[in-house]
Amino acid sequence: MTSLVTIGVILAAMAVVALIETAIPLRARGRWNWVHLGPNLALTFITFATNFFYNAGLAGVLAWSQSHRAGLLHRLPLRSGPALFIAVLVLDFSYYVAHVAMHRIPAFWRFHRVHHSDPAVDVTTTIRQHPGEGVIRYAFMAAFAIPLGPSPGAFAVYRAWSVLNGLLEHAHVRVPLRLDRLLSLVTTWPGLHKVHHSRVASETNTNYGNIFSLFDRLFFTFTPAARGRNIVYGLDGFDDPATQTTAGLLAVPFRDTATSRRPLVVSGRAVPLELH
Ligand SMILES: [Zn+2]
Ligand SMILES: [Zn+2]
Repeated sequence: MTSLVTIGVILAAMAVVALIETAIPLRARGRWNWVHLGPNLALTFITFATNFFYNAGLAGVLAWSQSHRAGLLHRLPLRSGPALFIAVLVLDFSYYVAHVAMHRIPAFWRFHRVHHSDPAVDVTTTIRQHPGEGVIRYAFMAAFAIPLGPSPGAFAVYRAWSVLNGLLEHAHVRVPLRLDRLLSLVTTWPGLHKVHHSRVASETNTNYGNIFSLFDRLFFTFTPAARGRNIVYGLDGFDDPATQTTAGLLAVPFRDTATSRRPLVVSGRAVPLELH
């Protein structure tokens, strides 16, 4: 029941963001903004179904940790406020690490490229994921969350914040550049994540953060938000109509990678594929 309420809240939030997108769009809408709607919503519902099990499993482990006082946060003399802040910060770092891994490890990139193959980015792109990506994300989350031991409540707060931030960072909304720069001091929306959806690998391999921009700044993967205004979205080699269907996107991880133009990383620095 709780999960149905959660899904309802997420869909309602998506609808509100979609209305704002209509009122103040980042740019004029193109053909892809309409073509991607069906596959994006289908993958969103598939992800709701699969993530329900991953989420319930991890929340169950964290409830067990709480009752057995296992995990670092249960052993430190912290009040609930600081413990919640540390939990959100560390779990957001786990998202950053998982995201970098999905770009650098070819087997993971096969799944994550479904998200990047969207030729238009708006609120419906947020949960356009292959169900296999959820396995990777939750595995990384569990690797950080289980030793840390956040309470199930803190974990729920992190998940809600993460989803809300995801909707906002994909929103096809124009805001004043000054506000965009100001927000990017702390968080990743609206401009920073748009850079991450670029077709140019040296831009794609930056701005991995979800809630906080802190980790991109710390690990030199930060591209300023102003660049996010004129990005050409998508992934070369994945624009054909057969790929841009729900079935085509579900098959993407198992496709030949010869034409996939995986963003390359050489000596820790992203380089444009045109150089190769
Ligand atoms: Zn990515
Ligand atoms: Zn994205």
